[in-house]
Formats: sequence, structure tokens, C-alpha cells
Amino acid sequence: MKEKTMRDICKMARKLAKPYRMTDGDSFRLKDISPADTLDLKAEDKPRAQEVLAIGVQTLATLQDMLYAQDRWGLLLIFQAMDAAGKDGAIKHVMSGVNPQGVDVHSFKVPSAEDLDHDYLWRCMKYVPERGRIGIFNRSYYEETLVVRVHPEFLTNQKLPPELVTKDIWKDRFQDIRSFERYLVRNGIVIRKFFLHVSKKEQKRRFLERVENPDKNWKFSASDLKEREFWNQYMEAYEDMIRQTATEDAPWFVVPADNKWFTRVIIAAAVIDALASMNLSYPEVGEEKQKELTAVRKALTKK
Ligand code: AMP
Ligand code: MG
Repeated sequence: MKEKTMRDICKMARKLAKPYRMTDGDSFRLKDISPADTLDLKAEDKPRAQEVLAIGVQTLATLQDMLYAQDRWGLLLIFQAMDAAGKDGAIKHVMSGVNPQGVDVHSFKVPSAEDLDHDYLWRCMKYVPERGRIGIFNRSYYEETLVVRVHPEFLTNQKLPPELVTKDIWKDRFQDIRSFERYLVRNGIVIRKFFLHVSKKEQKRRFLERVENPDKNWKFSASDLKEREFWNQYMEAYEDMIRQTATEDAPWFVVPADNKWFTRVIIAAAVIDALASMNLSYPEVGEEKQKELTAVRKALTKK
């Protein structure tokens, strides 16, 4: 890819993702972002959007190759959403072009007995990406301020000393998460967080599709329906989470998720922008190495 083309794509990516990028929690309200938003793009622009996504995926692959070669920065991508908002599909499509050797995906489900014997960040810390790599968290420690907040019985299971479970527990958790993320950022691990904002109506449509389409049956579980009953509590928890943890260091992207094609374009744009912010380049080899390469070339051409 030509350098100018690359620069232009990165610039466009930044512009596309910007309306959904939250760096100042205080001014954030969930109602300001509509799940059905597609900027000024219409349904008939979908094929064009898919072309843009394909270019985005190619750009991502080039940037990731440099990230890996340079081996200085790491990139942590965190995905949170209600069921059927499209996390899995978005991860699959956006990362489809990158070298699997440079990416790790981890899904965080209900904590195991071993997890519960530790502080809640423990199980996630183990999977923070190495330098040169992209790490994807499909759900994360943010569940500690979402499902655990909506269902306090999960908190009871966490074996915390009772005197530490005060009314300030969520405030404390947000503070600890902000500090943890700042620590990672100061160590060269860039963080981008995505909330896929789907509407209750669209979730219903997708659940019905999962019930009716035999190929999608496996995706549906009765507990998904149960969580739907707590929709309003979840939305409050998500809003508070973003208000408390959207920072310049580790921004949240609140991505409209009623149209999958749009969600994917915005996520790809935000990831490209994150990689572009690192000013990546291939490592230049020193004089010694140049000499070695010249010698190798000579030896090979002789034979
Ligand atoms: P899924 O991603 O649909 O396979 O579901 C994983 C489930 O694990 C979701 O219902 C999450 O809410 C749940 N989960 C993830 N992390 C936690 C946690 N820390 N405590 C309790 N439940 C969790
Ligand atoms: Mg699920």
C-alpha cells in the first residue's frame, strides 16, 4: 500500500470514528447515541460500506504487520455489549485480514472457582497483550460493573471480606479500573474499548432469528431472555460505566449496533486510528546487518 494512500485512509478512519469516541465521561449520556444511527449513510450505501470495510481490513493488516515487526507497542481491544449486539461477528470480520500469529482473542465468561479465589482483575491481567501484538477481550473486567452490579448475588460469590463490600464498591472499582488502564497505557499498551449499542427492539429481532434459524439455534440460551428483563438496569450500568471510565488514555467507542455493516466499519476505523496513533514503522537495520545482507546477496548470486 502506498504511503499517501495509507495516510489518507488513516485520516478518514479518524474522522469516521470520532463522533462515537468518548474521552470525557462527565459529558456522556447514552441517549445521545442512537443504536440505529448510520451517520448520513443509507441502506443503499451498504455495498459501498462493505467496500470501505474491505479497504479497512487491508489497512489493518499492513499496520499490524508493522506493529509486530517493531515490537514496542501492544494494542488491547475490549468489547462489551448486550447479547446479540454483534460482538462476535464484528471481531470476526474486522480482524479477518490480520495475521493470526499476532492476535489473541479471549472470551470472559462466568468466573471459575479458581478465578473467584483471586482479585477480579487477575484472570484478565494474564491475557494483556505482549508488545507487538493485538489482544482482544470479548467481555472483560467491565462485567464486574455490569452483570455483577445488576445481579448482586455474583458479588456475594466473590468471597470478599464483608467489611470491604461497602456502598462505595462501584466507585472503588471504577477508580481501580481507571488506574489499571492508565498503568497499561504508560507501559505502551494502547487501549480502545467498544460498547456495541443495540436497541431492545433489534435484540428481539435477532433472538427470534436465532430461534427460527437452525444454524443459529446454538447461539441462543434461555438465560439471554432472562437478562433481557433487566434491560433498563443494564443500560444504567453501561451509562455509568462509560461516564466513569471514558478517559483520554482509554476511550470508549459507543458504536451504534442496529446495523451490523455500520458497526463493523466504525470499529475498523477506530482500530486503524489506534494503530495509526503509534507512528509505526519497520525497524531499520544497522550497518552491521547491512554488511551481512550484502555478503549474503553476494554468496547467493555466485551459486
Ligand atoms: P456469552 O459471552 O454470551 O457466552 O456469555 C458469557 C456470560 O458470562 C455472560 O452472561 C456474562 O454476563 C457472564 N460473565 C462474564 N463475566 C462475568 C463475571 N465477572 N461475573 C459474572 N458473570 C460474568
Ligand atoms: Mg450469549
